[in-house]
Amino acid sequence: MVQHSIKSETEPNETPVRHVHIAILGTGFAGLGMAIQLKRRGYTDFVVLEKAAEGGGTWRDNTYPGCACDVPSHLYSFSFALNPQWSHMYSPQSEINAYLRECTERFGVRPYIQWNTELQNASWNEDEQRWHITTSQGRLTSDLLILGNGPLSEPSLPAIAGIEQFAGTLFHSARWRHDYNLTGKRVAVIGTGASAIQFVPRIQPKVGSITLFQRTPPWILPRQDHPIAGWQQLLFRFLPPTQRLVRTWIYWLRELSALGLVHRSPMIENAVKIAQEHREQQIPDPLLRAKLTPKYAMGCKRILLSDDFYPALSQPNVEVVTNHIREVRAHSIVTEDGEEREIDTIICGTGFHVTDAHLPQSIYGRGGQSLGDAWSAGAHAYKGATVAGFPNLFLLIGPNTGLGHTSMVFMIEAQVAYILDCLRTMEKRRLQAVEIRAEREEAYNAEIQQRMQGTVWASGCASWYLDARGRNTTIWPGFTFDFRRRTSHFDAEQYMLVPVEAVSEDKRKRA
Ligand SMILES: Cc1cc2nc3c(=O)[nH]c(=O)nc-3n(C[C@H](O)[C@H](O)[C@H](O)COP(=O)(O)OP(=O)(O)OC[C@H]3O[C@@H](n4cnc5c(N)ncnc54)[C@H](O)[C@@H]3O)c2cc1C
Repeated sequence: MVQHSIKSETEPNETPVRHVHIAILGTGFAGLGMAIQLKRRGYTDFVVLEKAAEGGGTWRDNTYPGCACDVPSHLYSFSFALNPQWSHMYSPQSEINAYLRECTERFGVRPYIQWNTELQNASWNEDEQRWHITTSQGRLTSDLLILGNGPLSEPSLPAIAGIEQFAGTLFHSARWRHDYNLTGKRVAVIGTGASAIQFVPRIQPKVGSITLFQRTPPWILPRQDHPIAGWQQLLFRFLPPTQRLVRTWIYWLRELSALGLVHRSPMIENAVKIAQEHREQQIPDPLLRAKLTPKYAMGCKRILLSDDFYPALSQPNVEVVTNHIREVRAHSIVTEDGEEREIDTIICGTGFHVTDAHLPQSIYGRGGQSLGDAWSAGAHAYKGATVAGFPNLFLLIGPNTGLGHTSMVFMIEAQVAYILDCLRTMEKRRLQAVEIRAEREEAYNAEIQQRMQGTVWASGCASWYLDARGRNTTIWPGFTFDFRRRTSHFDAEQYMLVPVEAVSEDKRKRA
C-alpha cells in the first residue's frame, strides 16, 4: 500500500497547508457512504468537507411537512446498515436524517468530518499531481478529490417577473420557514413536483386558502404507505435475513418497473390504468380531474406516489390554476389571462439546480479548465464518475446516474465500490494519478445517449432531467444491476496512469 501521511507544507505566506490522501465533499448518503467504506477498509488519511453544521444532506435540508422518501425505506438505506426500526414503508424525513446520523456515529466517521467548511474551489496541480482546495476554513491539498455535493442540493427559485417585489413571505420547500405561522394565510404554491405533493395535503387544513400554480400535472400512483408492525420490526432486528429478503423483493419489483421506462414494455399500460382509476376515485369534479390529467407519456417526468394530494386539491379552500403566471406584485400574483389573486405567502416547490449547479464552475482540472466549461455542451462523465481532463477527481451521482424507478443509494454504493477498486489498483500498481481517456469517455457517453433514445425519457416532455439543450444528462437509461456490473471493478485500461515515481518531492517543493 502506498503510504500517504498527513503532512503540513508551508505556503509562501507561512500558512501551513494540510495534506490528505483523500478529500470528500458532503455528508449526505454519498459522501457519508464513501467515508464509511474508506474507514471500514482501514483508510484514515481522509477528510470530509461539509458546508453545514450537521450531516444528512437532502434529509437535513428538506424539513417541509410531509417530507418522506418515495422508495421503500428497506431499500432506501445502505446495504451494509439495514435499519430494522423503520416506522413506515416510506419513512419520514426525521427518521432518515436520524438514520444517517446514527451511521455517522456507528461507523466512526464523525472525527473525519470538518463541519461548516464549504469547498470554494479546487484546482489540479500538474507538477504536484494533487488537488489544491480552498475552503471557507482555509486551504488543503489532497491526492484524490471525491465530490458528493448532491444532485438536488441547490434550491431553484422561479424566474418570474416582479418576484423580488413580493412583500409577503416567500420561501422554497427545501428551506421551510418553521418560524412562520401559515394558519389562515392565503398561500400560493408554485410547482406540482415530488415535494409539493407531499406538503400541500399537510398545510391545506390550516391555511386560509391555497392557490396551486401548475405547469404540468404529474402522473400519480397510489402510495399505500403503512406503518411497519412492531412484530415485524422485532423480526427484522433478531432475524436480519428476513429484512434482507424484503429488501431484495422490493429491489426486483422496482427493477421490473424499469422495463416500462427503459424498454417501454406494455406493462406501463397497467400503471397508466391504475393512475387513471386513482384519479377517478379521488377527484369527483370532472373539471378538476381534467386539469390534473397528464398529457405526456407516463414516466417521462418522475412518477409520483400519493394518496392524499388529490383529496387535498378537492377541498373548497384550494384552487388549481393552470394559466401561467405573468407577474408577481407586492401582495398578489397575476396570471396571463389578467386575473389577479391576493396572496400572503408564496411557497416554491420548484426543485433544484440540477443540470445548472454552480459547483462545477469552481473545479479546475488540467490546464486550468473548469468542469463547468468542460460541460458547456452538457454534463458528461465516464460511468458517472470520472471526467477527461480532471485526474483523480471522482463524482458520486455524477451525470447519467439518476433514476426514475428505484433507490439512489444503490447507485451511490456502486460508485463507491468503483472508487475503492480504483484505490486498490493505485496502491497495487503504485500510481499517483488516473485520468479517464477522452475517447473512452466519449464512446461511453455516445452509448448512453444512444440507449436513451428508445426510453420514455426521450418521449418529448420537458423535465428537469434535461439540460438547456434538451439533452438528458441526468438519468441512467437502464437496469441498476447493469450499472453495478459496469462499476464492479476499476477498468484501469481505460485510463491514463501516472506512476508515483513521476512526481518527485523536488517537483512538489518547487511548485
Ligand atoms: C425531498 C427529496 C426526496 C427524495 N427522495 C428520494 C427517494 O425517496 N429515493 C431516492 O432514491 N432519492 C430521493 N431523493 C434524491 C436524494 O437527493 C438522493 O437519494 C440522496 O439523498 C443524495 O445524496 P447525496 O449525498 O448525493 O446528496 P445530498 O444529500 O444533497 O448531500 C450533499 C451534501 O454536500 C454538501 N455540500 C454541497 N456543496 C458543498 C460545498 N461546496 N462544500 C461543502 N459541502 C457541500 C451539502 O451541504 C450536503 O450535505 C430525494 C430528494 C429530495 C430533495
